[in-house]
Amino acid sequence: MTHHPAGQPTLVYADAKGNITDFSSLHMAGMSGGHFLLPEKEDFIPLPEGSELFVLPGRLPVGCDPDTGEILLLEDDPYRPGNPIQAVAAFMSPAHTTILNSAYQTQDKAPRLPLFAYTAVGWYDDRFWTTAFRSDADIRQDASQFKQTVINKKTQKKLKQYKHNRLVQHLGKCCLTYACPAARNYFLGRWEAPLPTSPVCNARCIGCISLQTSGKCSATQDRIRFVPTAAEIAEIAVPHLQNAERAIVSFGQGCEGEPLLQADTIEQAIAAIRKETDRGTINLNSNASLPLAVKRLAAAGLDSLRVSLNSAQLHYHTAYYRPQNFSLTDVIESIRIMKEAGGFVSLNYFILPGVTDSVEEYSALQQLLHTSKPDRIQLRNLNMDPEWYLRSIKFHTTSPCMGMRQWLENIKQEFPQLQLGYYNPSIC
Ligand code: SF4
Repeated sequence: MTHHPAGQPTLVYADAKGNITDFSSLHMAGMSGGHFLLPEKEDFIPLPEGSELFVLPGRLPVGCDPDTGEILLLEDDPYRPGNPIQAVAAFMSPAHTTILNSAYQTQDKAPRLPLFAYTAVGWYDDRFWTTAFRSDADIRQDASQFKQTVINKKTQKKLKQYKHNRLVQHLGKCCLTYACPAARNYFLGRWEAPLPTSPVCNARCIGCISLQTSGKCSATQDRIRFVPTAAEIAEIAVPHLQNAERAIVSFGQGCEGEPLLQADTIEQAIAAIRKETDRGTINLNSNASLPLAVKRLAAAGLDSLRVSLNSAQLHYHTAYYRPQNFSLTDVIESIRIMKEAGGFVSLNYFILPGVTDSVEEYSALQQLLHTSKPDRIQLRNLNMDPEWYLRSIKFHTTSPCMGMRQWLENIKQEFPQLQLGYYNPSIC
């Protein structure tokens, strides 16, 4: 049973030092595609454990007058007039999908926001509330599942055991430096383990988290600098698939480029893995740019393909991925080929309120779902400055969007067989 607030949460803001305060004279507002609105009580959940609160530099909070419903800008500290303030957003813990973004007005010369998702957050009944829903019951990346002391001990042990394996050493950095949940689960010997392979990519995504050339925004983690051998990959994958609960190994991680560009190595690795064990799921997260490479890997034993997708509309897909020698047509062909080979296909669909639930995007997604029939949609928040994204893809819509909760209802109604979640499922 989802817990909603009995009353309307109030606005929170931060002072120049980042101290966060609530202002009970204004209700919090949300943002959708650049439009401000008052969230409905059903939009709220308590801020999930493991979430972070971000202070947004150069951005003023926007709230709502409790009596008139008017949208109002809070320009300075209401308790210390004249003192500068900043807007606040929630970066939610995994398995939660955004319904409304944080509401703010960007000031001149404001720095670009880093590569995170900015969800609306407010205060009510002595706690923070955010506009989101839990999109996957799976606990694999819940904060409660990770104890740093255990992680450190088990990671150091494996790093010693696999001194010679460059990929294990790379994952050691992912685990201990970036706290990557997938790398942590590998060292803890459970659930989904990562297998990054590619230093290069055939796309130049505006919001790429492993390579940022804009100079105005830094990548959240370094890209792997080498291509591991099939033997190094199998040395990680085989014991994990043989022993882990709900075991999955996944090519295509945030710390690499496009794995399909390493199809030769991955094909050999899958063959080596399946020679040792038929347990668990071998998955590939990808921009699905190379249908023929997908065909080879499916034939080699790839079980599931996760296709990253910012939009089902060609012009927005092209504007975001800036693809080199491929297009959305190739992506859809890769889905068809993987399905034809009997594989499982997920869409890693980037959610941004105001875009995802726009009428044009919904109808394009409807068509893709009807024609390509993927098995699952992973409802992932777009980790980017919303205003930068909308400008970059030249977003335009002709009519008010339906709202993310209505969007979710429509998808469930029209595609009852389609799985909705956040993570790659273990399918074997
Ligand atoms: S496909 Fe992945 S690695 Fe390549 S540019 Fe896009 S986000 Fe970066």
